Amino acid sequence: MISISDLKFHYPSGEFQLSIPQFTVANSEKVAVIGPSGSGKTTLLNLISGILLPERGTMRVAEIEVHTLRDDDRRDFRIGTIGFVFQDFELLDYLNVLDNILHPYRITNALLLDGTVRDRAAQLAAKMGIGDKLKRKANDLSQGEKQRAAICRALLPRPRLILADEATGNLDPVNKSNILDLLFRSVESHDATLLAVTHDHELLPRFDRVVNFQDFRS
Ligand code: ADP
Ligand code: MG
Repeated sequence: MISISDLKFHYPSGEFQLSIPQFTVANSEKVAVIGPSGSGKTTLLNLISGILLPERGTMRVAEIEVHTLRDDDRRDFRIGTIGFVFQDFELLDYLNVLDNILHPYRITNALLLDGTVRDRAAQLAAKMGIGDKLKRKANDLSQGEKQRAAICRALLPRPRLILADEATGNLDPVNKSNILDLLFRSVESHDATLLAVTHDHELLPRFDRVVNFQDFRS
């Protein structure tokens, strides 16, 4: 699903340099990424999803060389193929929860919004424990509720690849366990691939493999 070699990236400003000689994730694999804060975990997810472009190297995601696509194709590819749970959620504050969850369908032709999708959105939100908050503005949610809305938005299109950036960081233990079960069940039932950054070491046994970001340092 993901194949990276000799990847190099740095931001226009600052010292940070990301260098990944080799990194692959198989189809349907569930991989956890750990590593200290500031080591580049979020940067890597942004490169995989084509939000950032590498300076050097080759990178294939779902058989596509993402960085060679034109801007709008890259965006369609991202929305159609990848479910991204951002570390800071990236919900649109002025939209209600339902419209946030449906948002990917409204910004690309790669996804078709119909009644079935709306029904699935409501069911998913209910399973996540935010079914009674669909009409509430994203701005008026707690951190944990925002996180669950962000997970619903990522899962709804049944993406082949799910990138989760500390997706359980703001949840209490009971919610965390429920939501992880749901996330894993969703991944498994659609035969999706999961790449998840986490600081939560108790979650690691649930993954097929754990990658320590420090091992990339060459
Ligand atoms: P992690 O997710 O592992 O905590 P990040 O990928 O967010 O790390 O950041 C890696 C490094 O890149 C950090 O040193 C951070 O300060 C720096 N960085 C992140 N975003 C930018 C940016 N837009 N411009 C310059 N430096 C950045
Ligand atoms: Mg991060």
